Amino acid sequence: MSKTTEIIRLTEQYGANNYHPLPVVLTKGEGVWVEDPEGNRYMDMLSAYSAVNQGHRHPKIIQALKEQADRITLTSRAFHNDQLGPWYEKVAKLTGKDMVLPMNTGAEAVETAFKAARRWAYDVKGVEKDKAEIIVCENNFHGRTMAAVSMSSSEEYKRGFGPMLPGIKIIPYGDVEALKKAITPNTAAFIFEPIQGEAGINIPPEGFLKEAYNVCKENNVLYIADEIQSGLGRSGKMFACDWENVVPDMYILGKALGGGVFPISCVAANRDILGVFNPGSHGSTFGGNPLACAVSIAALDVIIEEKLPERSLELGNYFIEKLREIQHPDIKEVRGRGLFIGVELHTSARPYCEKLKQEGLLCKETHDTVIRFAPPLVITKEELDWAIERVKKVFAGV
Ligand code: PLP
Repeated sequence: MSKTTEIIRLTEQYGANNYHPLPVVLTKGEGVWVEDPEGNRYMDMLSAYSAVNQGHRHPKIIQALKEQADRITLTSRAFHNDQLGPWYEKVAKLTGKDMVLPMNTGAEAVETAFKAARRWAYDVKGVEKDKAEIIVCENNFHGRTMAAVSMSSSEEYKRGFGPMLPGIKIIPYGDVEALKKAITPNTAAFIFEPIQGEAGINIPPEGFLKEAYNVCKENNVLYIADEIQSGLGRSGKMFACDWENVVPDMYILGKALGGGVFPISCVAANRDILGVFNPGSHGSTFGGNPLACAVSIAALDVIIEEKLPERSLELGNYFIEKLREIQHPDIKEVRGRGLFIGVELHTSARPYCEKLKQEGLLCKETHDTVIRFAPPLVITKEELDWAIERVKKVFAGV
């Protein structure tokens, strides 16, 4: 039995069955390349759902991890640690916001935004107790906690987990008129992805981000951008909201914030919003731990110093152009911003992902019919040329 087969057997025997991975085991990674136990190399076209924007094991991030691991890793927030302050400053400057609140996973940061919005509605906006409403978009993905699945429009994400949280309204993605209609005096926030990742790289209609912002401002509603997947360079800008020069009231960040090395997430907003939290109202044992903060400082430095947003934009345009040259009846649409690209098919994307794997390209289907191409942003043009040859070959053979 091969090592790969044995590892997959163990995983399937003892693990809860909540994922459907491609049958490949990864044991090593460097830059855009990963390797299985048999020594086969693959190009990573998923980047762990955009958590590895800086590439696997970026030397600067690994160095920060090792140096911090040799000093102190966890203090809890019962005491100060020497990495949290500098990390706050870094994120505050990057987002242009007064304040930052650290958590660990994306879903926890979404949860934090949800709680902040509700408390802001009561304490600042003056909404009657327990009446606050949050507006979200159809086909959103904000994670798997109860607040996140309560916001979801997917029956499968919710099945068997009820009762859901009340006070949530769902509107079609990109529909400003629907947003206007959904707002009431009790609306606390509009929480949305500026590009929907898990839904299949859905880009809202031109002008939506700005118009929705204006509608929120006119109605004293918080405009909260979940940039966990679309942010930190992925879409060809630092934040996907930058595509329409909109600065949200609150950013929700995660994934690449930890450089694919250590989990860290956060929300960033001004004092009039995040000031609603006081000691005892929210927290996390690991949130803001020095190991995560040290890693995140290095992860953000890499994004800035290596100009990853600019790189993503330039190489993304190139790759989209090359993908659009492929003529095949199964291809419905190629869309994307930067290296955040979806190829929507008229048919299931899974067989294509399996064939791409055989050619050395690791892609994961999203929403059944979309092949997502989201490589680490440190990828080179030559590596993209290598990839496009394989993609062409797969479509030529089907
Ligand atoms: N929000 C968005 C936009 C995401 O893409 C994801 C993960 O894919 C999440 C939230 C949840 O993040 P996590 O899986 O770290 O909880």
